[in-house]
Amino acid sequence: MSKFFSERFSALTPYTPGEQPRDQRYIKLNTNESPFAPPQSVVEAARRETEKAHLYSDPTCSKLVKKAAEVFGVSENMILPTNGSDEILNFAFMAFCDKRTPVVFPDISYGFYSVFADLHGIPCRKIPLKDDLSIDPRDYFHANATVAIANPNAPTGLALSLREIEEIVKNNPENVVIVDEAYVDFGGESVVPLTKKYDNLLVTQTFSKSRSLAGARLGLGIACESLIADLNTIKYSTNPYNVNRMTAEAGYAALCEQAYFDEKCREICSVREYTAKELKALGFTVLPSKTNFLFARSERIGGAELYEKLKARGVLVRHFSAARIEAFNRITIGTKEQMDVFLQKVREILEEHGR
Ligand SMILES: *Cc1c(COP(=O)(O)O)cnc(C)c1O
Repeated sequence: MSKFFSERFSALTPYTPGEQPRDQRYIKLNTNESPFAPPQSVVEAARRETEKAHLYSDPTCSKLVKKAAEVFGVSENMILPTNGSDEILNFAFMAFCDKRTPVVFPDISYGFYSVFADLHGIPCRKIPLKDDLSIDPRDYFHANATVAIANPNAPTGLALSLREIEEIVKNNPENVVIVDEAYVDFGGESVVPLTKKYDNLLVTQTFSKSRSLAGARLGLGIACESLIADLNTIKYSTNPYNVNRMTAEAGYAALCEQAYFDEKCREICSVREYTAKELKALGFTVLPSKTNFLFARSERIGGAELYEKLKARGVLVRHFSAARIEAFNRITIGTKEQMDVFLQKVREILEEHGR
């Protein structure tokens, strides 16, 4: 730390992204990216737009917003595109939390929530998941705080129903409920339609997982007009050109390729079920996932040890050292071929370990 670093941030522990190693070729099952490249139309759209890279982008992303409004069935003033959904979450924490309005979220959830709370000096309350690692919606009724819930949750992969989320929204009329739908396309129920009914619901979505654009950085906030207006105040006070023009075009093109992404999501879900079945046959406990990853543990080997041994064999998964989940690994669903290599390595490791 330099002597110039503001005291406000000196105790901040930043978010730790999943490893992106350059030293060898790994099978990367650790950051929940899609194993499928975007379709050619998306690649071409971004490439064409590069010719205009000397000009600032449209700060309102009007072409993308118009298309997104059509796809999500809401009006244009209910959508705000951002630089990944991490940015819309950051804006939301700035806009809807402060010393008097803390934030609540599950003790096991997306790691960025507590980082944003610390960054902005927002008090946070972590509500323990139930013993089966699911969320009890009633724990969030009358929270007297901004509520942040990933649905499906990460890294557990478990989902609440639309009805359960609606109950949380209904029972917090004086507070904003942020529903992070990063994984909703893999079997969850989106509450986007409820944004037309409730003035306290903000839904965040990302193009990073189901739409094969993690490296392009594109997210969306969807909420009633007044919440979006507040978020725009934050956006125009930080970075008006938060979405670059190549990404805005790629995002537009991606929204025109719904059939392609639906097909890929179906494929990922089917490989997920296959992988879960094989892991269970090896004695793993596998949580029922509505995402593009599995959260699994084995009685036969510790979470950290399995992670290390897979890495030594060229397969990267994600391990978290938090006490309640240290026995688990989070395994992104890749192609069938990648998952067969992963499963083979797991079998080898267990065999060696049992000897
Ligand atoms: C991946 C992820 C995000 C953020 O993704 P971006 O790449 O910033 O769009 C947000 N929430 C959860 C739960 C995630 O897993």
